[in-house]
Amino acid sequence: MNIKSIQVLSYTVPLKEPVEAYAAGLMTGFGMVIVIITDENGNIGQGYTTMHSKQELAIARIIEDTYKPILINSDSSRIEYLWKQMWKQSHYAGRGGPVSFAIAAVDAALWDLLGKRLKQPLWKILGGYSPNVKVYAGNIDLNFPIAKILENATKNIEEGYKAIKMRLGRSTLKEDIERVEAVRNHIGDEIELMADANEAWRVDQALKASNELSNFNLTWLEEPITPDDYKGYAYLKNNGKTPIAAGENLHTLQEFQLLFHYNGVDFPEPDYTTCGGFTPFMKIAKLAEANNLPVMSHGAHDVHIQLLAACPNAAYMEVHAFGIEEYISHPLQIKEGYGLVSDLSGIGFEFNFDKLKQYKTN
Ligand SMILES: [Mg+2]
Repeated sequence: MNIKSIQVLSYTVPLKEPVEAYAAGLMTGFGMVIVIITDENGNIGQGYTTMHSKQELAIARIIEDTYKPILINSDSSRIEYLWKQMWKQSHYAGRGGPVSFAIAAVDAALWDLLGKRLKQPLWKILGGYSPNVKVYAGNIDLNFPIAKILENATKNIEEGYKAIKMRLGRSTLKEDIERVEAVRNHIGDEIELMADANEAWRVDQALKASNELSNFNLTWLEEPITPDDYKGYAYLKNNGKTPIAAGENLHTLQEFQLLFHYNGVDFPEPDYTTCGGFTPFMKIAKLAEANNLPVMSHGAHDVHIQLLAACPNAAYMEVHAFGIEEYISHPLQIKEGYGLVSDLSGIGFEFNFDKLKQYKTN
């Protein structure tokens, strides 16, 4: 079924309150690009990608100028072929980075279109492993006082979460440890706790943190160092006392291959919005499986549930603070620590464009 038209929409979506993570600093909103693909029979597929604010226009422009001419009148069901064509067309200024974000939005819309046309949810088309995926609350709270973090943890537990993540990277490790200790004491041993340093440390600092944090039974320590220091990750995984999570800042299948090759991660966390869409995400999930590793996700939980529900090695899904639940028809449902996948066709929800239009930037 050939593609008749493509619409590219960009937004800056405000957050309810400013939140801080070490690598990004203080954030008041996030950028979002939605791609709407219509085929010649009138079937519609929608996909989106998110990024830090003020970058959505550049990413929308890549899709408009570079990918639209390739896609119009092409067969929408040849997703692997179209992915390759987009990659090829932008490879010199690409091979990851903004190009991976741009391809992701198109790829997601192509998969949604396929699901809508087949009248099947994507999780079944992609493998159909389990309709329930274990979730955790991916709080962004580096700027919050301890009292507020504890209050939010209580709210998370009331909402049905059995696992909670907090941020690290305050000015001293002592302060980070005090915050982790306060949260662990508050939630008890039954609730899982993860900590995300968002690239805050050098390798030597990260090793010290990994060992001191082992007193608090963390499920993982996430991105303690810069994302592409694969040997550094291997050193920390092999010498530290806390399991390692990473992957949200890797933008290609090959970067994950390197991370696995160096044995640098316990919990790989690809993000379809940063690694080029559902097509490479599923390959990364299978590459993890072949390396006897689980697969997680970062961000975009309303969509990632469709991908992780297809994977036998899915372990945890992050429910991220950049939520779009207010702007979609069927937000993620959480029950007793699990996210429940939607059985509606494609990605399982529709955007509310009336509600989004106030934040439009193109
Ligand atoms: Mg993270």
